[in-house]
Amino acid sequence: MLQTSKTFFTDVVVCGGGPAGAAAAIAAAREGKGVILLEMRESLGGLCTNGYITGIAGNVDGLSLEWLERLDKEGHAVMRPHLPVVEPEFGKAMLEQMVLQSEARILYGAHVADVNVSDGKIQSVIVYCKQGKVEVKGKVYIDCTGDADVAFAAGCPYDVGNAEFMGLNQSVTMGFRLSYVNLKKYNKAVADFKKSDIYDVTDVVRGSFIVYKQDQAIKNGDLHEILSPGNLVYPMPGDPECTDVTLDATHTFDCHTDDLADLSRQIVDQHRKVVWFTNFLKKYVPGFENAVLTSFAPMNGVRDSRRVVGEYVLSEYDLAAAKKFEDGIWQHSEFFDAHVPTPGHHTASRHIHAWQPIEPGVCRPTQDAEDYVMNPYVVPRPYEIRTNPREYCEIPFRSLIVKGVDNLMVAGRCFSSTYHANGSFRVIAPSMGMGQAAGIGASMVIDKNLDAVRELDGKLVRERMIELGVKLNELPGGYWKTIREFEGKFVVAGTDWIQIINDKGENPTQM
Ligand SMILES: Cc1cc2nc3c(=O)[nH]c(=O)nc-3n(C[C@H](O)[C@H](O)[C@H](O)COP(=O)(O)OP(=O)(O)OC[C@H]3O[C@@H](n4cnc5c(N)ncnc54)[C@H](O)[C@@H]3O)c2cc1C
Repeated sequence: MLQTSKTFFTDVVVCGGGPAGAAAAIAAAREGKGVILLEMRESLGGLCTNGYITGIAGNVDGLSLEWLERLDKEGHAVMRPHLPVVEPEFGKAMLEQMVLQSEARILYGAHVADVNVSDGKIQSVIVYCKQGKVEVKGKVYIDCTGDADVAFAAGCPYDVGNAEFMGLNQSVTMGFRLSYVNLKKYNKAVADFKKSDIYDVTDVVRGSFIVYKQDQAIKNGDLHEILSPGNLVYPMPGDPECTDVTLDATHTFDCHTDDLADLSRQIVDQHRKVVWFTNFLKKYVPGFENAVLTSFAPMNGVRDSRRVVGEYVLSEYDLAAAKKFEDGIWQHSEFFDAHVPTPGHHTASRHIHAWQPIEPGVCRPTQDAEDYVMNPYVVPRPYEIRTNPREYCEIPFRSLIVKGVDNLMVAGRCFSSTYHANGSFRVIAPSMGMGQAAGIGASMVIDKNLDAVRELDGKLVRERMIELGVKLNELPGGYWKTIREFEGKFVVAGTDWIQIINDKGENPTQM
């Protein structure tokens, strides 16, 4: 058995340097605490940068806004009302600068593999690295590994997958990067398609240019299945000709994302599908004729894995009902987006099922055929509910507090939530918001000399977030304001999310 070769001491130990972890480290350090940020890879940003998920979903505010604005100032972000885009390499470098400027310390190549727990508290985490085993001791720990590795090692309760799908996780999608693309030509082809007679927003094939093209390729025998449900092509900031793009497109099904052998199977599957999809794009899609596959994302695109069971488990019904909390630390107005674990007609469930309509959610009776595809093992409940984008739900601070040990918090996609709630909240801006709140909370727990994180009144964290400029007392602005003020009605699109369309067929947002 390897002995630990070194021990580090600090106040706050942040495990995982993705969007949530970077934000947690910055926030705790800016409150004056000693912070060590442990990241198993060699750069920050997690799925956003290393997974090539470069479009930032959710309500951008607080540290996510600061990161984007700093990148934009240097020409490395595309600021737009919804899904602003970051250049992944500069994104990593900027996050690193923000962490270092906050005076938090980063340890790269530091895989948190184990914990020492006694007296109901984590006493230290054990890191596997080039020095063998290293111990890192702190007062408060924040698990931002995305997979709740720390909570798992500490024996805390967690959930994984979806009971409706026999415990399977959401489908997995690896990002990739293409060069020598003519994005302007592609965008024009999409715009022309939308003006053509073929286009029908309510149809799963004719409502999307890229799906329609894949359908043609299947008919010609060039593809055997729809590999990508939509046109998630992100321009590379700083490239005026848009010849470089990142994409997350292809789906791998029947996944268990906490299983080593299955994770390896997913990666091989993704490599094959990305190659097929690139060949399809080159042959069928205007603008991609000369595309070159520059790289697979260095981090596999796992959407969900373990979700801790915390002091509050945020549910899909809270989101549908646009619930507010006294200790609400983030506003969220995005749609449900749990990508369906099994292959089928629909790629993502952008609605949930309920026994009754839930206001202000957008409700309609369950549409049988489609909903059985999305619920292979159970009978769906009688109502479909979609989120109402004119409203928002808050994330309570309590859903960041892990049960089982006293000094552990969580932030990011492994926070305390149900499967369908997680499918919506897991995106980048809320992950950074949760990180910011967890960092502030950790600092308060130390200042107040509390015995357990759960003793902290989350309202104080909310107040501090507001003091720091996070707009928790105002309705979400920009994109969300445009939707609130647009007079139109909700239409369910073929891709299962709602569009707002007025009498003239106009859609203000291209959601
Ligand atoms: C295909 C796909 C498409 C998506 N599309 C969007 C989108 O369009 N917009 C959007 O906003 N979001 C999107 N998301 C979601 C979003 O990218 C993630 O949910 C978000 O990045 C979560 O942030 P996080 O910090 O919680 O976790 P992650 O981004 O997963 O970061 C976790 C970090 O922890 C590190 N780590 C893990 N385990 C350990 C360990 N044991 N020790 C040390 N370090 C560890 C990892 O290396 C990583 O850096 C998408 C996700 C996927 C997979």
